[in-house]
Amino acid sequence: METGISNSKRLYRVAQRLMPGGVNSPVRSYTAVGGTPRFISKAKGAYVYDEDGHKYIDYMASWGPLILGHAQTDVVKAVKKATERGTSYGAPCEYEIELSNLIVKSVPSVEMVRMTNSGTEATMSAIRLARAYTGRDMIVKFEGCYHGHADYLLVKAGSGATTFGTPSSPGVPKGFTQSTLLARFNDICSVERLFRRYKNKIACVIIEPIAANMGVIPPEKDFLKSLRQITKRNGSLLVFDEVITGFRLGIGGAQKKYGVLPDITCLGKIIGGGLPVGAYGGKRNIMGLIAPVGPVYQAGTLSGNPLAMAAGIATIKKLREKGVYKKLDSKAGLLVDGIKEILKKQNIKATINSRGSMFTIFFTDLEVIDYSSALKSDTKIYSRFFNKLLDAGIMFPPSQFEAVFVSLAHTEKDIAKTLNVFSNAVKSI
Ligand SMILES: *Cc1c(COP(=O)(O)O)cnc(C)c1O
Repeated sequence: METGISNSKRLYRVAQRLMPGGVNSPVRSYTAVGGTPRFISKAKGAYVYDEDGHKYIDYMASWGPLILGHAQTDVVKAVKKATERGTSYGAPCEYEIELSNLIVKSVPSVEMVRMTNSGTEATMSAIRLARAYTGRDMIVKFEGCYHGHADYLLVKAGSGATTFGTPSSPGVPKGFTQSTLLARFNDICSVERLFRRYKNKIACVIIEPIAANMGVIPPEKDFLKSLRQITKRNGSLLVFDEVITGFRLGIGGAQKKYGVLPDITCLGKIIGGGLPVGAYGGKRNIMGLIAPVGPVYQAGTLSGNPLAMAAGIATIKKLREKGVYKKLDSKAGLLVDGIKEILKKQNIKATINSRGSMFTIFFTDLEVIDYSSALKSDTKIYSRFFNKLLDAGIMFPPSQFEAVFVSLAHTEKDIAKTLNVFSNAVKSI
């Protein structure tokens, strides 16, 4: 056996022989930032531990779900209890009612909900539903917004706003993306142009109300309101993909925060408390089209799985306690303010976009308001910076175009330590 090689490196080599890139989701492989992905052996609270015994303060939160931190006591208890009663029934159970009820109570536009196993399934099904409801085929998505990996949603961002989408992955037939139109985030004119050109043909507009998959990019004033008006005027549905923003920005998600109600909402991540879940919901008359009540087929062997439901219920119950989001956001504020101060002192060109407990540092002095301005960020600096933080025990997402997540498990001490490491890291980037 080779000596002096880390366990993560050794495991990564084995994994690469068994799984493409050694991973089950591409961004985990550190392709964007270089280096060896850390193999995680356990996680608790704000920390993850790798197979070499290193401890990291974690700001990935499994890409968003773990808003309470890892292995949170209530969640673990709930899942244990559920497990003892059987891991899956393929028949209805009361857990499904409880989680659906919590979602309906929390998210203003949702009257009925259907559970899935992932966010990808939720957006896919929401679009099928919107197409069925309107009897139209075309959809509008925004450059740089990610809605999972369904064929027709994998459209090359950066194509002109008025051209037909071209697939951004081989294996997606051209015909599959021909009904996907691209608009520019925060550019209402790009949306209006599409509606003029494809009058009465657009089934829905799907958007992350705060974009968080090209880094965090909030909507400009009235952007979402205008989208609401345009879609209504044209008989199209507005679909909010709140897979990240749902229960992250507050109990009611982005729709509550901005006072704009979509027709269909997609959820995921946090509502599964770290287990695989997605959901889509909306008004009764729209949801009534879904089988078995209506003709729109959508199903799942493990949908509404009792373990996932139990984890989601425990998570949302905790989040509904008084003052939780205030506490969370003030912790994130502490971190963001600290980072801003350090960057300014070191004279580093950077723009920080933040909302609630999520943020992104872009290494550019330009404002970042859409995909093309996000691409102006110097990703080489991000990579160096990421690796310096990682070596010093701070785990940021291994790509520039992701959100950094603060959880309720982070203590002020964790944040102070993070700022200290950050301050040293930026001195030499
Ligand atoms: C993560 C994500 C998805 C996809 O969810 P999966 O559970 O990974 O399939 C969809 N939309 C948004 C906004 C996401 O962040």
